[in-house]
Amino acid sequence: MNEEKTVHDWIAAHQDSVTDLLRSLIRIPSVTTYFDEDPQYMREGDAQRMLKAYLEELGFVTELSYPDAQKLAKYAGMAGYYPHYTFEDRPNLFGHYQGTGGGKSILLSGHIDVVQRGSQWTLDPFGGEIRDNRIYGRGAVDMKGGIAAMVTAFKAIRECGIKLQGDVKVGTVVGEEAGGMGTLAFVDAGYRADGCLITESTHLDIAPLCRGILWGKIIIPGRAGHIELKQGDWRSGGAVDAIAKGRLYMDMIDRLNKRWAVTKEHKYLPIPCQVHVAQFNAGEYPTTFANRAEIVFNAQYLPAEKDGMGLGSTVKKELEDFVMDVAKTDDWLREHPPCIEWIVDADCGETLDSEPFFQQVRDSVFRVNPASKVEGICCHTDMGWYSNVGIPTLNFGPGDPRYAHQADEFVEIDELVQCTKIIASIILDWCGISG
Ligand SMILES: [Zn+2]
Repeated sequence: MNEEKTVHDWIAAHQDSVTDLLRSLIRIPSVTTYFDEDPQYMREGDAQRMLKAYLEELGFVTELSYPDAQKLAKYAGMAGYYPHYTFEDRPNLFGHYQGTGGGKSILLSGHIDVVQRGSQWTLDPFGGEIRDNRIYGRGAVDMKGGIAAMVTAFKAIRECGIKLQGDVKVGTVVGEEAGGMGTLAFVDAGYRADGCLITESTHLDIAPLCRGILWGKIIIPGRAGHIELKQGDWRSGGAVDAIAKGRLYMDMIDRLNKRWAVTKEHKYLPIPCQVHVAQFNAGEYPTTFANRAEIVFNAQYLPAEKDGMGLGSTVKKELEDFVMDVAKTDDWLREHPPCIEWIVDADCGETLDSEPFFQQVRDSVFRVNPASKVEGICCHTDMGWYSNVGIPTLNFGPGDPRYAHQADEFVEIDELVQCTKIIASIILDWCGISG
């Protein structure tokens, strides 16, 4: 395809185009409100306005819209809805570039917000510095790199004078890093396309699914009592060591994980769903048995396990039953059953490989970059709501996701440029070239 070569050559000859855009985005700190108290870093609005002006120069018709908890109240109890979140100067951005007609439309989507600076940076987290052919800064990987690549991919097509049949739409949302209410509002506003590419960092792999994530806390009761003395039976007032009961749960979680390792796999995931213990908190002071233990865990679930609300209630029930079943094996726990306190339920999504969008993107990606593979994302992305409303959605973007949320977050310039080329090919193939 001649047009593809022309566009790739333009991108190779204008690498500054994508790197400058990424550096400008990094230099506007857009930390999600719920992460950082310092207002000088919470500039999602400024970043969106910068991008809005950029899209308008490329010929997009744009609009800003503000998520509103009251307007979204019909989603109470569903993924991404948080009644107390506010969005003053935190707009979603939508841009629309109309094709000549007859082609399929694509939505290029990303979140403009980033997580907090964090500590241990050796470079300015909002400097966008270039060192050793890498661009450093908060959001370089997650996911301003992806936003810069997708916008530049379109720019390259336009600069080469190529007209597309299908419409190109760009959506950048706020608030992904704190629950995804921006995407819920975006979908509620009615923005749709025949296929959606979320340019979260996947290291140039195609990720057709992301997992649901549950955070919970198992609270295990014990009974305090002098730790150096012989204790009588708990029925006659003796102490009960909550740490020992916690150990029982830890052992049983190991067993549960062996079962999940074979029952909760997915052909596109490198690891099965597991219950990972993240914290074990117990005890009061050195001379008493622990009166209480808490096991804080992170459990993942597959898109096939999500309930009618798009969430993980089925898996929550499974884990609550597990806690009760273990309690039945122990006299104290049978009469003093532990409970689970749920903290987070982040939704998931999946696009099946029978979808034409999946097949087209796979063909485009493998043709340009044979080293890419299909591999799901083990953590959360914003694809849940797009899938819920029936938009085939794939994650594909630049950068190694392991560097997301880290100090000295960076993206390799070569990978950023390669990604821009691949996204341009996806757009050309999916939307169709006019004339
Ligand atoms: Zn992200």
